[in-house]
Amino acid sequence: MRLAVGIAFKRPRHAHEWLAVDPRIRAIVLALAEECDRRGYASPIVTSILRTPDEHARIYAGRANAPASSPHIADPRGLVRAVDLRSHIYTPEQVATLVAWMNQHWPRADKRPTALCHNVGLGMHFHVQVPPAF
Ligand SMILES: [Zn+2]
Repeated sequence: MRLAVGIAFKRPRHAHEWLAVDPRIRAIVLALAEECDRRGYASPIVTSILRTPDEHARIYAGRANAPASSPHIADPRGLVRAVDLRSHIYTPEQVATLVAWMNQHWPRADKRPTALCHNVGLGMHFHVQVPPAF
């Protein structure tokens, strides 16, 4: 018998980048896939993983409070500490449920959210992140 839950990738590059995602996030997203399956929700779709510093700068170009860095940029271990997931495949109630579920089960000591649903100019999406490992 085999556990069968799935996540999908928006682009082939994301399937290649997946193993460069911090294992703590891979665990969260795979558990999220199980939870979506259990609730009868759509399976998670990964829409963004790795960004270069140039891509980060382009996304936030001209914005007043642009963050200097991003957990989407590979850290010194070569790992990414954030992934984005499609949100418009869920109802607003489902979005709220899934964000609350991830934040309940993976609370952060620094009180920042593990999951949120936001729009930084590229459309609404889930942003799932973990703190630096060291
Ligand atoms: Zn993000």
